[in-house]
Order: sequence, then C-alpha cells, then structure tokens
Amino acid sequence: MRLILLGPPGAGKGTQAKSLSERLKVSHISTGDLLRDNVKRDTGLGKSARAYMERGDLVPDELVNRMLVEHLNSFGPQDGFILDGYPRNLAQAKSLDTILRGRGMDIDYVVYLDTSEAVIIQRLSGRRVCSACNINYHIKNMPPKRDMVCDKCGRPLQQRVDDREETIKNRLVVYLKEVASLIDYYEQRKKLVRISADDDAPVVLNKIIELAGRA
Ligand code: AMP
Repeated sequence: MRLILLGPPGAGKGTQAKSLSERLKVSHISTGDLLRDNVKRDTGLGKSARAYMERGDLVPDELVNRMLVEHLNSFGPQDGFILDGYPRNLAQAKSLDTILRGRGMDIDYVVYLDTSEAVIIQRLSGRRVCSACNINYHIKNMPPKRDMVCDKCGRPLQQRVDDREETIKNRLVVYLKEVASLIDYYEQRKKLVRISADDDAPVVLNKIIELAGRA
C-alpha cells in the first residue's frame, strides 16, 4: 500500500500516518520529521533548511527532493509507505512521479484530509511534541499523563517553533497557494479521495483504513 496524505497543517497527517503505518505495516515517511531531524543534528541540509522552516516557508524543492531520493534508496520495489507532508507543490508531485517510476512503484491513493480553519488553529496551537521521541500530544485532545512530560520517555514536551500563531498563518497561506494545483493533478489521475478530517483521530483513521481495504 502506498498512500499520500494531503491536507493543511493541522489536518492530522502525522497522527494518521503513524497509526496507519502500524496498522498497515508500512513505513511512515514524513519530510517534516526528516528535515527536523537534520536541523537537530545540524547537518548541511539542516543548516540550509532551518530558516525556511522557522518562517513556515517551504524548503527549496531541490533540497527536499534529494533528501527523499536518499531516503527511498533503502526501499525495495514491493515496499509500501505513507507519505506525509510531501508533495507540497506541483513540481514536487511531478518529481515524485519520476522518482517512483524509476523504482517501478506507483501511488495507490492520495487521501485529502479536508479540515476547517477553526479546527486547524485549535489543533496546531495546542500541539506539544516530545523533544526526544517525537510523539505528538495535544493539551486538550490528547494530553500527556503528567503536565508537559512525555508518557513514553519522561522527557519534556515542547511547542514546535512553527506552531506559533504568526507562523501558523504563514503556513496556511503557503499551503493554500499550492494545494489547488495538487488537488487538480491527482484528481486528473483519479487518485484523489477526500475525507472529512474534522472528526476525532480514530474516526478519521477508520475511514482511511476502509479505503485502504479497497486498494
Ligand atoms: P510539516 O511537519 O510537514 O508541517 O513540515 C514542517 C516544515 O518543514 C514546513 O513548514 C516546511 O518548512 C518544511 N517541509 C516539510 N515538508 C516539506 C516539503 N515537502 N517541501 C518543502 N518544505 C517542507
């Protein structure tokens, strides 16, 4: 199974992708996580990407595409994955086609997680992330057992720098500018399926699993 999760920041792509990868036994590829890992390790890519990410702008396609190609090098032609946060624009969608074609792979579905603006702001402003194991929490919807401490590893939770209100707004502007062309692209290829993602995570997950069963 190879799925792309498409949707605004706050649609729940990361949460859904993690659950789906466990249920469907396929890899979760998050370009945001891969980039944040590079920033944390202060690699060459991390140094180049940091400022874009802190502003909520897209990291240049060339850097992200190269990172994805390198990541996919460990995948065999039968391996499945859930792509979360990529492609972000039409150029990336076309690059992805070329990358996958070269590996004899194709995408089964592109799941568009349709989310209202009120839900996006509520989810992102309340999101907290474990600094060590990357698990997402939400101060209201999915609070940790102890205040601001990760249930799994006991390390402190943090707010992502790009989850501050001003940056959220810019991320939404960037998202809206690019998403229409992506939707058209995958609709024309009959790959796009829209799912309402305002519901709670388990409800949305079930809708996607049901869809995956049809592939
Ligand atoms: P995310 O975790 O998917 O919300 O991504 C966080 C940030 O990483 C984005 O705001 C971008 O700065 C950068 N990023 C993640 N994926 C991509 C991508 N496919 N293309 C460009 N920038 C990306």
